[in-house]
Amino acid sequence: MHPQAAAAGAPALSLEGIGHAYDGVAAVIDVSLAIGAGEVVCLLGPSGCGKTTILRVAAGLERLQRGRVAIAGRTVAGDGIDRPPEERGVGLVFQDYALFPHLSVRENVAFGLRAMSAADRRARAVEVLQRVGLAGLAEAYPHTLSGGQQQRVALARALAPQPRVMLLDEPFSGLDTRLRDQVRDETLHVLKDTGTATLLVTHDPEEAMFMADRIAVMQAGRMEQLGAPADLYCAPANAFVAAFFGEVNRLHGVVGEGRVATPFGAVEAPRHLDGTAVDILIRPEAIRLSAPIESGAGPAGRVRVVAARMLGRSSLLHLAAEGGAAGALHLHARVPGRFLPAEGTILAATLDREQTFVFAREATV
Ligand code: ATP
Repeated sequence: MHPQAAAAGAPALSLEGIGHAYDGVAAVIDVSLAIGAGEVVCLLGPSGCGKTTILRVAAGLERLQRGRVAIAGRTVAGDGIDRPPEERGVGLVFQDYALFPHLSVRENVAFGLRAMSAADRRARAVEVLQRVGLAGLAEAYPHTLSGGQQQRVALARALAPQPRVMLLDEPFSGLDTRLRDQVRDETLHVLKDTGTATLLVTHDPEEAMFMADRIAVMQAGRMEQLGAPADLYCAPANAFVAAFFGEVNRLHGVVGEGRVATPFGAVEAPRHLDGTAVDILIRPEAIRLSAPIESGAGPAGRVRVVAARMLGRSSLLHLAAEGGAAGALHLHARVPGRFLPAEGTILAATLDREQTFVFAREATV
């Protein structure tokens, strides 16, 4: 049984107009977000952009300064209300897990179940440990566990009271790469299985793409864009969002007759007035290269290979293209598989328009 009855149709967690400052310096500015049951939303952004502050305000670890926090339709902070963390029905997992070293795994998981009888606590702890695949380690102590196991204990402890909402702050960052992939996968499974609404903080775009139903990209306290991972990747709202999802080549240009020139031919820029100074952001995988050409590039541009490296599943090429007054433009292209033309090779290059973005320069950072 949940500690509070849900208001019909209300999101599991709702943040409305959250603002927060430390010593007069704004850390979070007017952030609104609603998360449904079973939905995972990631707060993604660089260090210091306000992600943890939002989580702490939602949890009640930081006193609300502006806006409103509601859980299952009930206000828990704002409108003169300020419920303490233990009354909000949220589960918390932080980067350092913070397990109690003197308690066994089972006792750690049972810790948050004080309202139950001893027998019920034990049964519930074992049930949750089974769910995260750790039933066999119930009597072990935290220091005898691997990082991945400790992370799962922390997850089990937070899930044990059946919170509507889980707040996870960089929960996988202490794990090495291979273990991290596995624990992410398992965690996602458990969150979806239990129908928990989750707000997960990360600075890793790949983690956000993997975990999230929706991603909120943050910069300097503001939410820049909120949407499904594929939408953010394929239709970023601005240069910051485009560049946050991986390396981009950045060219400059000026719009004329609804287009802007690049070394690979003109790119349509229908949303910009003629004369607008723009940044053209080109993902490395948007540069399509074809076999060396003898003469005449046709609609494609000519590029010279400066260096080529195989990076496993793809090859990364450093290219020089003939550019305007500034001389040769240097770009990176990423090509699937093994493609290692010799230095100095001339190739034909075209652009995949789907992965090329044009933004007014005023809007860039
Ligand atoms: P990180 O990824 O590094 O954890 P973040 O995006 O979670 O960063 P916050 O921790 O929310 O960002 O911090 C946002 C801003 O508020 C930063 O400029 C930070 O220095 C500042 N800040 C955070 N906590 C405090 C505090 N207790 N006192 C003063 N300033 C703080």
